[in-house]
Amino acid sequence: MRFPAVCPQCQREVQVEFADSAVHDVTCPHCSTRFCVFVRKQKFEVLFDLGTRALMDGYAREAVASFAAALERFFEFYVRSFAFERAALAGQTDFDGAADILESTWRHVSSQSERQVGMMALAYLLREGREPDFLTAKALGADFRNRVIHRGYLPRREEVDAYAARVFALIDRLLGELGTGAAHAELAQERQFAAHLAALPDGVTAVFEEHPGMFRARRFAGAGGEKLGVKNLPGQPARASAPTKATAPMNDAQAFQKALKERGPLLKGLRK
Ligand SMILES: [Zn+2]
Repeated sequence: MRFPAVCPQCQREVQVEFADSAVHDVTCPHCSTRFCVFVRKQKFEVLFDLGTRALMDGYAREAVASFAAALERFFEFYVRSFAFERAALAGQTDFDGAADILESTWRHVSSQSERQVGMMALAYLLREGREPDFLTAKALGADFRNRVIHRGYLPRREEVDAYAARVFALIDRLLGELGTGAAHAELAQERQFAAHLAALPDGVTAVFEEHPGMFRARRFAGAGGEKLGVKNLPGQPARASAPTKATAPMNDAQAFQKALKERGPLLKGLRK
């Protein structure tokens, strides 16, 4: 997937392909200026937006793989947020040290999604003091996902809409519960950006971008994220979830369709 960036020198548009690292070293095709684009977006967001684009373009079957991957990466995001938050609450001030331990720990589970689900289950239990009721195969839509991805099932559009709505609602709910706790994992991305920034050769301009996305409203960026130890203690109501809790209940499908209507058009700038 590509996104449009603007060359800081000649101000013309440049198409940039999304990189896994969210860091893009670019040479302007018009004026040959070198610049570096940092996109403040989490992997789960990029994947969910890819799925949404595919769905909007009529590629329902392809969308399923992106939604499924988005959910897996969101679980990773949740576990990372929780681990950083816990380290901060324990008084640990060495963010890089905490990040290194987390990185080497994640390596034990990184190649098997079942192990990651196990991490998620424990992280949720410890943070919320409740069973992660959303981890049943039924709640995750696992059977549908497996039929599409592994057995070549051709899903109907409404089935994919329902799956997308399910994944959307789950991520939205958990982001709400995480609240400012998510800022810790955001900070980890900022640290990676800072490391790349420090290594940029002279004369290369750094460009930081925030992109629209389906979870944009949930983004809490900057909400005290500079410091480890931002307060959103486990068990406390998360600030970000307050508005949705107060409004009339929507079912998953309605919530997804509403977000699609509001934010889907913003994804039009992205190209495959
Ligand atoms: Zn240029």
